Amino acid sequence: MEFFEYSNNELMCEGVRVKDIVSEVGSPAYIYSKKAFIDGYNEIKTAFQEADPLICFSVKSNSNLSVLSALANAGSGFDVVSGGELFRALKVGANPEKIVYAGVGKSSGEIKYALENNILMFNVESWAELQSINKIASQLDKKAQVAIRINPDVDAKTHSKTTTGKKENKFGIDMATAERIISESSKYANVAITGIHVHLGSPIHDTKPYEKGLEKVNQFLPKCKANGVDIKYLNIGGGYCISYTGKNEIRPKDYAAKTMGLIKKTGCKLIMEPGRFISGNAGIMVTKVIYKKQNDIGKKFVICDAGMNDLLRPALYDANHRIWPVSTHVQMPKVEGGGEKGCCGAKMLKKLIVEVALQEKKPIDFYNDLEVVDVVGPVCESSDVFAKDRPLPRVDENELLAIFSAGAYGFTMSSPYNSRPRPCEVLVDGSRFDVVRKRETYDDLIALENI
Ligand SMILES: *Cc1c(COP(=O)(O)O)cnc(C)c1O
Repeated sequence: MEFFEYSNNELMCEGVRVKDIVSEVGSPAYIYSKKAFIDGYNEIKTAFQEADPLICFSVKSNSNLSVLSALANAGSGFDVVSGGELFRALKVGANPEKIVYAGVGKSSGEIKYALENNILMFNVESWAELQSINKIASQLDKKAQVAIRINPDVDAKTHSKTTTGKKENKFGIDMATAERIISESSKYANVAITGIHVHLGSPIHDTKPYEKGLEKVNQFLPKCKANGVDIKYLNIGGGYCISYTGKNEIRPKDYAAKTMGLIKKTGCKLIMEPGRFISGNAGIMVTKVIYKKQNDIGKKFVICDAGMNDLLRPALYDANHRIWPVSTHVQMPKVEGGGEKGCCGAKMLKKLIVEVALQEKKPIDFYNDLEVVDVVGPVCESSDVFAKDRPLPRVDENELLAIFSAGAYGFTMSSPYNSRPRPCEVLVDGSRFDVVRKRETYDDLIALENI
């Protein structure tokens, strides 16, 4: 979160006060730091330099055109999972030879669109899809380059809703079927199987799942060779974690240190598909406090103008995002104690008070400054909660809260549920900022409907 820091009691994004942005564009708003995306891209590229990786940014994590454009200019390729994402990547002038296409349900229209635009390769997730690509490629008189997305049956130990590399998940092709496909590959005249793809889920806080996945790949490669299938590309997917709590997490160089040997052993060109690692901490969502209320058991609610329709991760994955006022004299603790699953009310408050007091080196009466609240949105669903029993500096109506680490799977997962127009997106670059997606209007909500 180094591009979102407090200075003189005000949250800054790079060189701009967040408060100033919101007073111009309104609330709620997504605010991104351009430098943060580029830094993330460079960090992962440098960490794996030995394998000269092609970095294909995962468009589903953040698909704003200005963000994609900045990354394309930095040299990034793109990992797309739909025709719409491909359309976005092409729109910003991305090099098609740096685009890879994954997803279990590519339609024939999407396959045709990708073939016509000469993308680098498809990550194929079933036998049926391979046949479909072969047929469409033959109609277009093309040869489609594909990677077999294997399902290595490795547990990434992440949330059940974000794990993808276990047998019970819908993703990829099991090893036995992959072997059969390889042995029959000559049947598919319009397909060249040149890659192996593994993506295990996200976020993965350990290097072990990657090591296990790569071991499976290394066991599989000789079988390809024996069948005359020349595998040139190894795509190890995404899933590289970020810190949502301020706690130190493993970084790309740590993943690289543990996996480089196994990667080199394959002898393949490396492709990586980081999403969250590049975009997660490059963005925040800012929301305004509308009301506060307290019930008869003493529970306090801070009711915001943003809801689960704007940022779905807490409702969908029980995700814990740090929240802190945009303008406050209370310093945000360096690390939030609750871990990724959230925190624990009174106990946590005490810990936080100690942490903040230590940080500020003075015994401030923090009980006056902090209160334990549920931060909630206005949507008519009980799951519309950003944080439960969270110690926060006391805020009043109309004050702004920053919800951190919202750059990945934030705006891209938003919807107009409850007929709530989606927030705007702002990109900060040094001391300037631009609205890179306008706030939706009521007219936008009904633009495609007839009566
Ligand atoms: C979502 C996804 C990614 C990106 O995952 P992150 O955790 O954001 O890095 C990469 N590859 C594939 C195939 C995906 O579906």
